[in-house]
Amino acid sequence: MYNCERCGRTTSPGEKTEKVIIKVKIKEYENILRVPTDNPRRREYMTKKSKGYEIVEEKKMCLDCSKDFIKNGKVEGKPLKDGIFS
Ligand SMILES: [Zn+2]
Repeated sequence: MYNCERCGRTTSPGEKTEKVIIKVKIKEYENILRVPTDNPRRREYMTKKSKGYEIVEEKKMCLDCSKDFIKNGKVEGKPLKDGIFS
């Protein structure tokens, strides 16, 4: 049993909880990769940057709320691409 953090309803025992991401931020990752060389003993590295999302906030929701949020809600900090989450 828990309180849904969206509608405030207390759920019945055994009802499934859904953790829904509501806020994210863009995070840049730096990957260190080993570059293949002619000499296997020589080690050369390069860095490659990639982007991703980091979870800032998530809420516990009942099944109905999580379905509704995924369909109609907007995740804060995540740009929309043609109305669909990229
Ligand atoms: Zn709810």
